[in-house]
Amino acid sequence: MLTGVHVVFLGGDARQLEIIRKMTELDATVTIVGFDQLQNPLQGAYRSDLKNELLEKADALIMPAVGTDDEGAISAIFASSELKLTDEHIAVLPKHCKIYTGMAKPYLRKLSLKHKIDLVELFDRDDVAIYNSIPTAEGALMMAIQNTDITIHGSKSMVLGMGRTGLTMARTLQALGAKVKVGVRREEHFARATEHCFEPFYIKDLSSHVSDIDLLFNTIPTMIVTAQIIANIPNRAVIIDLASSPGGTDFRFADKRGIKALLAPGLPGIVAPKTAGRIMADCLSQLILADTRERGNRV
Ligand code: NAP
Repeated sequence: MLTGVHVVFLGGDARQLEIIRKMTELDATVTIVGFDQLQNPLQGAYRSDLKNELLEKADALIMPAVGTDDEGAISAIFASSELKLTDEHIAVLPKHCKIYTGMAKPYLRKLSLKHKIDLVELFDRDDVAIYNSIPTAEGALMMAIQNTDITIHGSKSMVLGMGRTGLTMARTLQALGAKVKVGVRREEHFARATEHCFEPFYIKDLSSHVSDIDLLFNTIPTMIVTAQIIANIPNRAVIIDLASSPGGTDFRFADKRGIKALLAPGLPGIVAPKTAGRIMADCLSQLILADTRERGNRV
């Protein structure tokens, strides 16, 4: 249980509601900032403004999936006014307090480093990334279905990258009956792709594998679907770029060639906020519990 542990939430979206529920279930003292527009009251959580006196008493600070933007603005869909995280806010946090977020921009990284406050980025963790790959693949499928006039079944689909998202994407497509080509750069991924009955190829040979595809799902977070690659893709193909912004596709050139290319960030929070929130809530509760025990042992 988290009895006596003060957890402060700063902004966020529907995913935060699941985390707040989990924290109150575990008996943490929960204060929420940026939820004043929420219709249904959150049982057991106190509402507050963003102020130093609150942050001074925090044991854990939970930020949205993307902590802040490059200027410190906090995304808060239930807030009536803008929330901004400042240097002073981080300066007043107790030194044992940890900041938790999905992924942080340099603004938040720099502030936490400057004030020696631990910053935990959940989406970096293998377990969270693997669980999140499920709603990501479902969201990508939804986009594919909405943007094509063919079935996934029987389609020639390509997945670039066979990491945590790529493998789930390829397996999901295969389960629906697509013929799945997977672009990898490591021999062990080539072998694993063969074992899964995908059609593997090396990324360096990408341009010679795209001429017959219907769908391309990119998970490689670097410019990979270049103008030269797009020049070899059939006009009917749809590119769904899952890599974090700005993606790995030359969108300008795709547009010029009349090929539909879509950047699809943040799918778990869009297509399955409840599941995505539960994934974060389960991980966060374990981390905060472990941290509280460790602190207890040190006292
Ligand atoms: P990951 O496990 O690290 O997988 C990335 C894959 O890209 C790996 O197979 C890696 O190969 C490959 N790769 C990286 N750089 C490469 C290069 N220069 N050439 C060839 N292959 C390269 O990451 P992930 O968790 O699957 O996430 C992938 C991307 O999707 C990230 O940008 C992440 O932020 C994003 N994402 C988006 C959503 C969404 O909703 N759109 C959801 C989750 C994640 P090696 O293994 O050989 O390094």
